[in-house]
Amino acid sequence: MAQVVDKFGRPIRDLRISVTDKCNFRCTYCMPKEIFGDDYVFLPEDQLLSFDEVTRLGHIFASLGVKKFRITGGEPLLRKNLPDLIERLANIPGIEDIGLTTNGVMLGRQAEDLYNAGLQRLNLSLDALSPDVFGEMNGRGTNPQIILKNIELAKEMGFQMKVNMVVKKGVNEGEILPMATHFKERGITLRFIEFMDVGNDNAWSFEKVLTKKEIYHMLQEEFELEPVEKDYFGEVAQRYRYKDNGVEVGFITSVSESFCSSCTRARLGSDGKLYTRLFASSGFDVRELLRSGKTDEEITEAITGVWSNRRDRYSDERTEETARKRKKINMSYIGG
Ligand code: SAM
Repeated sequence: MAQVVDKFGRPIRDLRISVTDKCNFRCTYCMPKEIFGDDYVFLPEDQLLSFDEVTRLGHIFASLGVKKFRITGGEPLLRKNLPDLIERLANIPGIEDIGLTTNGVMLGRQAEDLYNAGLQRLNLSLDALSPDVFGEMNGRGTNPQIILKNIELAKEMGFQMKVNMVVKKGVNEGEILPMATHFKERGITLRFIEFMDVGNDNAWSFEKVLTKKEIYHMLQEEFELEPVEKDYFGEVAQRYRYKDNGVEVGFITSVSESFCSSCTRARLGSDGKLYTRLFASSGFDVRELLRSGKTDEEITEAITGVWSNRRDRYSDERTEETARKRKKINMSYIGG
């Protein structure tokens, strides 16, 4: 099958798969505990896509040009038997790379099985080294030491790893230099993520965004950096390296310098909907197609139709007003 492209000529290369809408954290910028309290109703199990369904879709997406899967959530390590899914996805012809995004709390117990199942890459989310700052941000008081220990363990096991830090103005900018120093010394790439207007519940505004430019200036006070060329079309991070030891550091600049024009990413939500952008207001119900007896050809045709009609470039056009008025889907469904 020929590579499918959208209205702006962007191919489909990556698929993010959210395997659960549940999370063990209540990060203030994602699933604040005031909204996601004890009585919050998550998706019942039968509304999540089964591993058979995800694998079937994996084959279909691979036939359309997808080369890379990333498993996410919610917290993906909460999904039972995840290594089983990884193994199935890793065996799909044409798939070159599988990654997992996790908060890392449960990684200690699962890392070995995931590695043996074929998982090569991990993105660990960690927003601070200070127990107070991190405990406050994750909404559960969880100590970062647990995650730091699991990062070391996964590194020793052979995983390729990056650490992602969401930066919120007035909350954790004091953690930028300690985090940079810590991961530079350990040879692990740290990426700073601008606080984004995803979800309805995180009281986002431009004022709370610390931009790449501001973070970069802070780093420059301490370190000598040089830019690194992009590796491939659609790479989202702006990359730099520390001149003295060559370790990389990156920025995900979704707000201040959007990268819609090279976005090759689709998202399969934990609700079985297909989203063609992170900032989507609605999705295309693939679960319904799977469960109503459609053939692979029919599903392939439907997905091709969705992608080839894609004309999203929300971040390129974002204003404070569009950010406020837009109907949003929570990150726990759509997968970060
Ligand atoms: N639970 C997993 C984790 O923590 O990595 C996977 C899902 S989480 C939604 C994926 C990533 O999205 C995390 O790095 C998280 O920090 C980031 N994220 C969530 N809400 C965000 C926001 N409003 N702005 C920027 N990044 C956000």
